[in-house]
Amino acid sequence: MNYTEIMVRYGELSTKGKNRKDFISRLNGNVTKVLNGIDNLSIRPHRDRMHIQLNGADYKEVMSRLQKVFGIQTFSPSIKVSRDFEEVKKVALEMMKEIYTEGMSFKVNTKRSDHNYELDTNEINLQLGDYIYTEIPGIAVEMRKPDIKLLVEVRGDGIYLSNQVIKGAGGLPVGTAGKAELMLSGGIDSPVAGFLAMKRGVELEMVHFYSPPYTSENALKKAKELTGKLAAYSGPIKFISVPFTEIQETIKSELPEGYLMTIQRRFMMRLTDLIRKNNDGLAIFNGEAVGQVASQTLESMVAINEVTNTPILRPVSNMDKTEIIKIAEDIDTFDLSVQPYEDCCTVFAPPSPKTRPNLEKAIKFESELDIDGLVQRSLAGVTETIVMPNETFLDEKDEEISDLL
Ligand code: ATP
Ligand code: MG
Repeated sequence: MNYTEIMVRYGELSTKGKNRKDFISRLNGNVTKVLNGIDNLSIRPHRDRMHIQLNGADYKEVMSRLQKVFGIQTFSPSIKVSRDFEEVKKVALEMMKEIYTEGMSFKVNTKRSDHNYELDTNEINLQLGDYIYTEIPGIAVEMRKPDIKLLVEVRGDGIYLSNQVIKGAGGLPVGTAGKAELMLSGGIDSPVAGFLAMKRGVELEMVHFYSPPYTSENALKKAKELTGKLAAYSGPIKFISVPFTEIQETIKSELPEGYLMTIQRRFMMRLTDLIRKNNDGLAIFNGEAVGQVASQTLESMVAINEVTNTPILRPVSNMDKTEIIKIAEDIDTFDLSVQPYEDCCTVFAPPSPKTRPNLEKAIKFESELDIDGLVQRSLAGVTETIVMPNETFLDEKDEEISDLL
């Protein structure tokens, strides 16, 4: 099909005023970013639609990239025709002939944003419908559930024809809700939490704790590769790695085993919060789900959360594991998440952590440590990189070996 443009319809149309302007300009920026590298495109954002003129570019490639852009409700590959109705009839018929197969039904659905056009909506529906009906022998007209809906949009600059409406990613354009840090492990849950945060317009930066030599280089690469998967939805993402070895070793050697996990998590939260502050993030997201493991009981959350007032958002907190896995599969992080490279928490996980830690006790045990020194030394070792959409870090060889394990 000779599509000339992709017509993009915005999500959450209730947004008004300044929010709407921000929505559209962010979406414009994000669309421009994901389509980067496809030549000749021109992107024109309007108040109620965005038009992406193809100028000969491959529409399938454009559509597959658009699928991952939050803030898009639906989109339609379209052909722009002049306002000459004879021309409209001719192109509409060609379009119909290309998709029609025996036994199919159709209807014409017209919208006019330009009310000065010579024909009104009904006249266009009728005249175009009649023409197609006589030119394609055997085609049926069906108002309720047609196989083909021929969409006609009359605008000031021309008439747009299309035959499909494709569902977009929904949500809000990444960046409209501000910036936050995501605590990203190598597991299944935190990438899903990140996806859901981005879907609500949040721009994320990844904070990942690692503990060499207890955790392998591959554990770090895996977290970066997961970041690459998420970056396909947002554009490049800042990845912040935080050394956690000294803290874990110290806690393990000096504190009672029952509180190992709680106090480790308090340190993670503190460090993430300081990093958030340095980066002007507004909140912290993580992949905790209520009751999933010992560190995720409400009592644990109370004891861990106490180190900060920053909003801690947990997008998967009330989901079942199966629901989380379903999303992980949809966004293609699942296979990567289940690769067996242990991250720092698994390595230092006590055999029986307290599921109901006591906050006062946690504070008391912790106070025996040089909290500030540990935090400052960890911060001094922080490194940052930018991860590109779908960037890979693990060698294929590594993946094959882990498949055999
Ligand atoms: P996930 O599948 O996301 O690893 P999980 O069910 O394995 O989650 P935990 O290991 O208890 O749960 O971790 C709970 C949350 O703490 C994670 O979802 C993540 O947000 C954060 N977290 C855990 N380990 C790390 C890490 N190494 N670096 C950064 N954040 C982490
Ligand atoms: Mg984990």
